[in-house]
Amino acid sequence: MTTLPLEPATVSSVSAPRTWLRRIHSGGQIVETCPDWCTDTHRNDGSGYLDDLQHGAAFDGLELAVFDAEHGTVPMPVLAARINVDPYSSDSRRSTPHVHLEPFQDEVMECLTPDEFAAVIAQVRAHCDRMDEIHAQLVKARAEYR
Ligand SMILES: [Zn+2]
Repeated sequence: MTTLPLEPATVSSVSAPRTWLRRIHSGGQIVETCPDWCTDTHRNDGSGYLDDLQHGAAFDGLELAVFDAEHGTVPMPVLAARINVDPYSSDSRRSTPHVHLEPFQDEVMECLTPDEFAAVIAQVRAHCDRMDEIHAQLVKARAEYR
């Protein structure tokens, strides 16, 4: 499947929007334009059903070394995120930019609004503050041990 790249609207700008012609399975074709923040390749978006298209930007989570009986530890990504939009979705939560947050691998909190995402960030930040208290308690416990 080949896509037919169109000339960008502006000349030689690195941030020029990416556009391409997409054939729609139900008939017709449409010029798609990525939002500035989209980093998806769209390698497989030369054709498809209208509402198959998504734009997005993925952000790696942090990796924690989790115990593994065979390997000692394995890296476990937590708190990975993807800004996403499904431009043709009939669901307004999907057709406006939102975040999919993976608190841990293969688990997702879907379609978070900015306020919902901020609430999760506040929860994680508060938990980190609590872990600082646990850390201090651990240091004290070790100093007093024996
Ligand atoms: Zn895009």
